[in-house]
Amino acid sequence: MFAVTILGNNSAVPAFDRHPTSQVVTLDGTNYLVDCGEGTQIQLINYKIRRSKISHIFISHLHGDHYLGLMGLIFTLHLNKRKNDLHVYSHKGLDEIITLQLQYSKSALNYKIVFHQLTPGKKEIIFEDKFVTVETIPLLHKLDCSGFLIREKRKLRRIDKELLPDNLSILQLNKLKAGEDILDDEGNMLYKNEALTLSPRKSRSYAYCSDTQYYETIIEQVKAVDVLYHEATFMEADVDKAAETKHSTVKQAATIALKAGPVRLLIGHFSARYKDLLPVIDEAKRVFPNTYLALEGETFTIED
Ligand SMILES: [Zn+2]
Ligand SMILES: [Zn+2]
Repeated sequence: MFAVTILGNNSAVPAFDRHPTSQVVTLDGTNYLVDCGEGTQIQLINYKIRRSKISHIFISHLHGDHYLGLMGLIFTLHLNKRKNDLHVYSHKGLDEIITLQLQYSKSALNYKIVFHQLTPGKKEIIFEDKFVTVETIPLLHKLDCSGFLIREKRKLRRIDKELLPDNLSILQLNKLKAGEDILDDEGNMLYKNEALTLSPRKSRSYAYCSDTQYYETIIEQVKAVDVLYHEATFMEADVDKAAETKHSTVKQAATIALKAGPVRLLIGHFSARYKDLLPVIDEAKRVFPNTYLALEGETFTIED
């Protein structure tokens, strides 16, 4: 299971029942929280997503619509008697903000927060385990800002059970999965790997491009991801407002997708000036038909 559930999709302020930015990425039973705008913990409850399964929170930048829900969530995890470490990734300053709030409320958490500081303007792998890597996507905004590319690692080759001889050991099966040939004790070829295995399933990927002006540099990094979430704050009629606030228009987001394709494009971070999102999606689809509104509560699954 690799899926993205939208928790908040608005920019700046809550409006029209839309909340500031947040998504949860679910991968093999782990929930990764990506941005944490105000109301995120309520949205987690609304959509029945388990807070206890979140151990890594990625914050793109320190504008309030991307992190003001974090303190509430941190306290709730404490009151729920969390014990496991919580890893928080952000640009400089978030550790001071959180530490100060804990200090003035004379609170000692039951669990430890491990802060990881992102490097402005630099693409770097900030988390990896056996299955996945998370890499930053440098963006151009009014503050230091990074998107995140969550990508499955290359998977093992699949054994073709129809062709498999029944005398192979577990060790030999593992060698086949790792792409190795099976040799006898003298080093002679017993079975060529390709004769008994099929190519691995594809590694799935999700890229989240948070607040940014139109920035073609990201295209190379998000090329052919399965799902690209790109902010699309303003419509083309408000292109001057987008430039002034270092945001993208719907058309610009769709143009990035067109150049990075084939991808499925999600657009979000809508301005509170648009109540009706139909004209927004229409504008995107004129440039890139495979576009979806990142509507709250919707889950976008990436098939194996
Ligand atoms: Zn924002
Ligand atoms: Zn911002």
